[in-house]
Amino acid sequence: MMENDRSIRNLSANLRGNLLQSGERGYDDVRKVWNAMIDRRPALIVQALDIADVRTAVNFARDHEHAVAVRAGGHNVAGSGVSEGGVVVDLGMMRDVDVDPDLGIAWVQGGALLADLDRATAAHGLATPGGVVSSTGVGGLALGGGFGWLARKHGLAADHLLSLELITGDGERMHASADENADLFWALRGGGGNFGIVTRFAFKLHPLRHEVLFGPTVYRLEDAPEVLRRYREFCAGAPRECCVWAALLNAPPLPFLPERFHGRPVLSLMQCYSGSDWTEGKRILAGLHTAADPIGDGVAPRPYVEAQQFLDQAYERGARNYWSTQSYVELPDAAIDTLTGLAATLPAAESDILISQLGGAIDDVAPEATAYPHRGIRFAVTVGARWRDPADDTRCVTWARDGGSKLAPGASGGQYVNFVAEASGSERDAYGVNFQRLQNVKRRIDPSNLFRVNQNVVP
Ligand SMILES: Cc1cc2nc3c(=O)[nH]c(=O)nc-3n(C[C@H](O)[C@H](O)[C@H](O)COP(=O)(O)OP(=O)(O)OC[C@H]3O[C@@H](n4cnc5c(N)ncnc54)[C@H](O)[C@@H]3O)c2cc1C
Repeated sequence: MMENDRSIRNLSANLRGNLLQSGERGYDDVRKVWNAMIDRRPALIVQALDIADVRTAVNFARDHEHAVAVRAGGHNVAGSGVSEGGVVVDLGMMRDVDVDPDLGIAWVQGGALLADLDRATAAHGLATPGGVVSSTGVGGLALGGGFGWLARKHGLAADHLLSLELITGDGERMHASADENADLFWALRGGGGNFGIVTRFAFKLHPLRHEVLFGPTVYRLEDAPEVLRRYREFCAGAPRECCVWAALLNAPPLPFLPERFHGRPVLSLMQCYSGSDWTEGKRILAGLHTAADPIGDGVAPRPYVEAQQFLDQAYERGARNYWSTQSYVELPDAAIDTLTGLAATLPAAESDILISQLGGAIDDVAPEATAYPHRGIRFAVTVGARWRDPADDTRCVTWARDGGSKLAPGASGGQYVNFVAEASGSERDAYGVNFQRLQNVKRRIDPSNLFRVNQNVVP
């Protein structure tokens, strides 16, 4: 049944939040997501204010045969927070975080950003692992896995989920935890937004010192092959409190970098030491820097919340983006040489190549224990084209795609669901050994595939 004016008026009257249609104030703001390449026009946007609004929106979409897209932080590079036609449920007004320091639990509404979560937990000297840019939505990040500076020490964001509350396609409220709907709980930890709209997450928290040792050390591109080989060696023996991501990028105008390097390709090693003994931390990190002389060093004690926001400005919303990713158990010499070669051909000022260091506590969990299958991967490499002018679309997308293909030899083959740049076609790579079981849960929880604007598990 398609909607008519009356049914839309009814929907609007039943919401505490807002209903937005094309031409109305706010519509264009919400339909725009982080990646400016995505230009979709939903039929309706529901800005939900509470769980009742979420249920009302789901019931309306189902009854009027619309797909539902769920938008939390809007960061998904494939644009899965917004649909062409259909109903978008925007959770941007549901961002509360409630921390119980005695229980060590944070209850987080479905639309919260990492910044909301970090701020609320840090106030109690607590933290839970997130990602490295604080404007990312907790929702998409945690449902897909979620790794950042604390993942090697404590595990994925998804590994810290204790329970979830969601509205499923039939408009019912469900709870999932180890004791309740355990199969759904399994599926929600890596299976993305396939099963319903999560209105509340409960995360386990860890004590964390107020400050971490954090920041970049920057090298000349000519030294990148040697420094990256040393980085690989360092990572093989690094303690879990250490997490180092390498970036090949055009040097930003940071005060500690000589001006002649600004805007030129360099290698940056972003380091986070989250242990309690900084003398030891400094000693360990010094071992990373024996291959060449850096051109600048910005490592310093910083509040954890500041470290979480360190990269925010570099990845502000509004640029056009396309990513190609590869995962490795071992980073082969050939990949290091390819990476350095690619860095010399960055297609636009803001483009970069990121190597995320994984391992540690992420691998304490078996690949089939949660829906996130990529345990055992040590490095995720993202060839990230980022540009402004639509006239450069083909050139920049081609650069990222070709870069990804050149890096394929020696890679493990899987694709992290949260980094996949195309809306469909990569599901089996993304869910790996867990695809079949996810499909079984999907058949039970969302048989009509109402939630299909994502890396879709077709029931
Ligand atoms: C700048 C940047 C930095 C990043 N850094 C990291 C990083 O350090 N580590 C990492 O692991 N990933 C990182 N990512 C990837 C990120 O995890 C994904 O893009 C993720 O999908 C973003 O979630 P979101 O809520 O912001 O996005 P959205 O586009 O709003 O949502 C993404 C998907 O999640 C679903 N979803 C979101 N919230 C809910 C909910 N409450 N209920 C049901 N479904 C929901 C949506 O339906 C959609 O399919 C980064 C991405 C960007 C753009």
